[in-house]
Order: sequence, then structure tokens, then C-alpha cells
Amino acid sequence: MSTFRFQALRKATDRKPVHVEELAKKSEIFGSNVFNDKSMRQFLTPEAYKAVKAAADGVKIDRKIADYIALGMKEWALSKGVTHYTHWFQPLTGTTAEKHDAFFETFPDGSDPVEKFGGSQLVQQEPDASSFPNGGIRNTFEARGYTAWDPTSPAFIFGTTLCIPTVFVSYTGEALDNKTPLLRALNAIDAAAIDVAKYFDKNVKRVTPTLGWEQEYFLVDSALANSRPDLLATGRTLLGHTAAKGQQLDDHYFGSIPTRVLTYMRDLENECMLLGIPVKTRHNEVAPNQFELAPIFEEINLAVDHNSLLMDVMQKVAERHDFKVLFHEKPFKGVNGSGKHNNWSLATDTGINLLSPGKTPMSNLQFLTFFINTIKAVHDNEELLRASIASASNDHRLGANEAPPAIISVFIGQQLTKVLAELEGVSNGKLSPEEKTDLKLNVVGKLPDVLLDNTDRNRTSPFAFTGNKFEFRAVGSSANCAVSMTTLNTIVAKQLKDFKKEVDTLIEKKDLKKDEAIFNVLREYIKQTKAILFEGDGYSEAWEKEAKKRGLSNHKTTPQALKAKVSKKAIAMFGEMGVMNHVEVEARYEIELEEYVKKIQIEGRVLGDIARNHVVPTAIRYQNVLIENVKGLKEIFGKDFEKIAKEQISLIKEISEHIEGINTKVEAMTEERKKANTLTNTEKMAAAYCDKVKPYFEEIRYHADKLELLVDDELWTLTKYRELLFTK
Ligand code: ADP
Ligand code: MG
Repeated sequence: MSTFRFQALRKATDRKPVHVEELAKKSEIFGSNVFNDKSMRQFLTPEAYKAVKAAADGVKIDRKIADYIALGMKEWALSKGVTHYTHWFQPLTGTTAEKHDAFFETFPDGSDPVEKFGGSQLVQQEPDASSFPNGGIRNTFEARGYTAWDPTSPAFIFGTTLCIPTVFVSYTGEALDNKTPLLRALNAIDAAAIDVAKYFDKNVKRVTPTLGWEQEYFLVDSALANSRPDLLATGRTLLGHTAAKGQQLDDHYFGSIPTRVLTYMRDLENECMLLGIPVKTRHNEVAPNQFELAPIFEEINLAVDHNSLLMDVMQKVAERHDFKVLFHEKPFKGVNGSGKHNNWSLATDTGINLLSPGKTPMSNLQFLTFFINTIKAVHDNEELLRASIASASNDHRLGANEAPPAIISVFIGQQLTKVLAELEGVSNGKLSPEEKTDLKLNVVGKLPDVLLDNTDRNRTSPFAFTGNKFEFRAVGSSANCAVSMTTLNTIVAKQLKDFKKEVDTLIEKKDLKKDEAIFNVLREYIKQTKAILFEGDGYSEAWEKEAKKRGLSNHKTTPQALKAKVSKKAIAMFGEMGVMNHVEVEARYEIELEEYVKKIQIEGRVLGDIARNHVVPTAIRYQNVLIENVKGLKEIFGKDFEKIAKEQISLIKEISEHIEGINTKVEAMTEERKKANTLTNTEKMAAAYCDKVKPYFEEIRYHADKLELLVDDELWTLTKYRELLFTK
């Protein structure tokens, strides 16, 4: 009997839920481990407090003041039993990184021990960064990297460590992380959106994107997860026959949350409350053992930090409950994968959501302006947006007949489609008083009561307008939101900047009134962007054909999709908007290609290993049992045995065929890997891994999964799908 699998199963089924208290009033502990407004006022001098606040608006913090801030921060942290501090940052590996230092210090002779933390430690640190990917930036410039405090995201305590959110840059100024380009994109969209918002309200001084992410994930018992080498090494199952029962009954989606999971979620939510992550909803997802967590939306920089932090916290809390969290986009074949919807909007400091229709025709024109400009930005940059969500793991969703397709399109709903059609009919140039009145009364005047309830939810659209925000649904569950959000905010910023120029030109050169000019430019945009609007079934084959006719891209693999990141147009735009220079863009391209190669390479190795070292030996063991059986039957029945042992004999043959299949395919795959490894150009290597190595995965899996069906269950060593997915 295959003991490891059965021991794991025994462990998993014997587990009892960990008791966790449900907090009656979450608000009472919310943010108590965050150096937020309340604790800042308590622990900082008024001068230091003001400096932190001003820093959020880009005012530099004086070194002396930084000392005072550090002092207050340390006092606060010590009052909560904290012993260490760390600069917390988001390197290009897509995860988070930290290096803990103790507050504890002594003089060189070991005298006068004290807990110390000064401004210089708060503001800047030099992690040993040589092992973080940099895509050649540091080689090119021979520069070291350092982390620098981001005062727009508050420090927090996790465990006994004070975590200080930071950016990670090289000494020559290149961004080595995911946060820096995001912050730059936020500056760009702030500037561009303020200029446009001022057409409607002169008082707008700041525009901040908002983000509400929805995190999907799978939970698997840790003993079961540990029994699968593929899950451990790659985050997904490379083999495994689909369970007889999958998600076809939808009973998990509508069912109640299993108790063990519920106590996990409760524990997690309590942690989130302490950390100031405003999680609000929890529920089952479509696939068995799949769940979702969503917060109240926040300013985007904070929301991105919170999502990265959450992913860490989820895994740590899961350990207390003997679960492993799977963030992979497709951990199991045959059941739904996981995504991370990014709900995005633009908020002003005057309290307006620019993507929400208002109460007056003017505020509705403002809404339509931002709405149509966003559509135009997506239309003009659909390939770049697709590139921003490309990864080896997300390839399993995009273009794989589920979740959003690899084709980027925008869904806006019937009502807004009608509004756009009417705006398309606006006259060229000056508008007559009658037309203006008609527009006011019948088009922009009518918006408020049609939206929220009527934007029906087309779940197949990768980029959908949902009443007062756009929802980017193609983002992968394991992704750092910063990457796609940097792209989205940059393309919209660029678009708004161009829009402003066009409108101003019409006002100056054609003597149009402001609203006339706006209507004129929007009309042209509506005409130009029709190709990106799609209301139908995004998963259908018909759409693939239609999209092709419309000239939309459909890149199903990461190496193909990523190319758009380094197009002339993209490099020029990132440069123009001050988000990334060409070195930073090219470095990211290189890093992502390398990561793709590594992922496929590891998957290939693990697959070869488990196919040969688990599946084949198990199959042979069972085949030997059959052979013994046939021999015995022959002994007893003599010449009649062939009829009696017919089934066994055909099984023996079938097993041999599949073993043969596995061996030849694994060998062929290994050959292709060797060839790919000799390539020196990363782009070519990624293409080779994608087109030559990866196709063998399915072929090898086919034989292994067939064997799983043939071999005696008691002998099978790999934990099965039904066990991974249905053990609760
Ligand atoms: P679902 O997509 O699951 O039906 P909702 O549409 O109600 O759920 O909300 C999804 C997410 O949208 C939530 O996380 C919420 O915080 C976020 N959200 C709501 N309004 C905004 C906004 N103005 N900006 C950004 N995110 C928002
Ligand atoms: Mg959603």
C-alpha cells in the first residue's frame, strides 16, 4: 500500500477545526497594528505628524524631522512588543521581500545596550540585493540598490516586526521593484486627470485611482498538499485524473462554507483587521475548495500593498489551520481557475468618483468624458494591457476556454451602448441651441437613473464597466496588482493628456465652446474605438473569429503577449509619462521572459520526475500483480486460461503501452529542454520552452492519467483529485 498518500489522507480527515473567536465589532481593532492617523497623533510631535501628512502630497521630509518620526514610530512599536524592523518591498519576483534588523544596539565594546531606530534607518536601507532579479540594470550601471521609505503607505506590525513599506531603486535611479513605476504612474494620471477634471470643476486639486481587488484562491489540506511533489514545486498539479464529480453541480458555489475553512477565514479576517486591510466579503467560489476574499476599495497604492501583504498573511494564517493556500491561476485541470478582479476607478479630492454619473448634465458629461477616454485608452493599447497580465500560470486561464479570453475587449452594457450611439450623432463643429438642449435633456441628462442596476454582468468580459468602475478581470490570482495597474493608469493618463490637447485646440483654433469641443472630440473617439466594444460571449469561438476581423490581438502565450511591452510605442509612452525609461522597460521584459523559462523548465523537470519515478514504477508493480494472476490462472485452467484471463491480459498490454508512451515522451521533452538551454537569447529560449517543451506536458499527462484509472487505487502513490478537492 502506498503509505505516504494514505497517511496524509488519514491526517487530513482526522483534523478538527481550530477554534477562532468571531469578533462582534471589527471596527474596535481595525488598524490597531498600523501606524495610522490615530497612532501618529499619539506618538509624533505635531511637526513630525504634519511632515508625514505633507509627504503624501509629495513634500520631501527633512532629515531631522525623519529622526523625530522614527523615534515616535519606534516608541509605538515597542509599546506593542515589537523587537525588529524591516524595509518591506516588492521586488520584481512578484512577491514581497523583507530583511529583519533588531532595534537592539550596543556600543562597539558591548556596553550600554539600547533599543534604537533613527531617521536614517527609517528613510533608507541597503538590502543585499544581488539575488533579486534586475534584468541587467545593475550590471549595466554597476550600481547597487537601496530601499527608501514610501510615506504614502503606512508602516505596520506583523508578528514582532515593524514593517516599513519602501520602494527599491538602484543608486542611478532605476526602479528595481513593482511599486516605483506604480507611484510614477499615479503622478502621471493625477496630473492628466486634474487637467481634464478642471473643465468641469476648477476646485479639483488631486485625482487618485481607487482599487478594489477580489482575490480568488484554493485551500488544500497541508498534509495532502505536501504529498504532491508537483504542487509543492510548481503550485499546480501536473498530473491527476479529473474527479468523477467536479463542479458540474455548482453545489460548492451555493453551499455553506465548511467549518474548517470558516475558522480559517475568521482568523484571517481578524489578522486583516489588525493590519488595517478592510476585508468585507468572503464566499465559496465555483470550483470545489475554491474561495474568494474581497475588501472595501482603497486608494490604489495602499490597495496594492494590502493585496501583497494579504497574500503573505493568508499563507501564514493557513499554517495554523493546516492548510496550504494555492494562488496559482490553474492548480487543477478540469475545474475553474483563479483570478484577481481589479475594480478600478478615479476619485477626486472633492469627493467625486469620476466614473460615476452625477446629478446634473455637466457632471454626466464629466462622467462620459472619463468613461470614453478609458475606452479609448484600452482600445489603443489592448496589446499592452494583455501583456501586463501575462505569465506562465495565467496562460492556463487566458485563451484556455475559461475565465476571460486572451482577447481584450470592453463591456459597457446596453444602456451605455445606446448613449454612445446618440453621442456619435453630434454635429461637427458648433452645435445649434436646439441640439445643445436636446443633448442636455435627452442624452447626458438622463444618465443617473439608468446605470447601476442596468449594467448587467457579462462575466465573460475581461474589462467590464460595472456601474461606477471598470473591472479588469483578466488579472491572475498570483499576480502583483501593481504591474497591471501601472499599465492601466499610464495608458489612461496618456489618453487624458492627448484629449486635453485636442479639446484645447478646438477651443482655440475653431472657436468652439468648451462643451462643444468636448462633444466633438468624444464623438470622434466613439467612432474610432468600436472594435474594442463587445457585449457577447467572450468564450465563444465566434468571438475569436470576429475579434480577428476587427484586428484585435489574441496572444495565447506569454512569450507572444509580452512583446507588446517593448514595442516602440510602449517604450515611448512609458517614457513620455515619466513612468519607466527604456532601460527599466527592457529590464522588466527580460525578467519576465526569464521567469517564464524558469517556470516551464521546473514544470518539465518535475513532470519528468513524477511520471518516471512515481507513475511508471507504480504501474509496473500493478502489472506484476496482474502477471502473477495470469500465471496462476494458467496453472489452474491450462489451455482455457486465455479466455478467463482475457481482461487481465489486455490490461497488462494497455499498461505497457502507456509506460512506453510516458518514457518516449519524457525523453523527447528532455531533448527539447537540452536544446532550449543552449540558446543564449532569452526571447528565443522562452519561445522554445513555450512551443517545443510545453506541448509534451499534455501528452505525458495523458498517459499518466490513463494509468491512474487502470492501476489499483491502493498502490497509487499520488494523492488523487477527489482527495485534494473534496477533503474538508
Ligand atoms: P462582484 O464583482 O463580486 O459582483 P462588486 O461589484 O459589488 O462585486 O464589488 C467588487 C469590488 O469592487 C469590491 O472589492 C469593491 O470594494 C470594489 N469597488 C466598488 N466601488 C469601487 C470604486 N469606486 N473603485 C474601486 N473599486 C470599487
Ligand atoms: Mg468582480
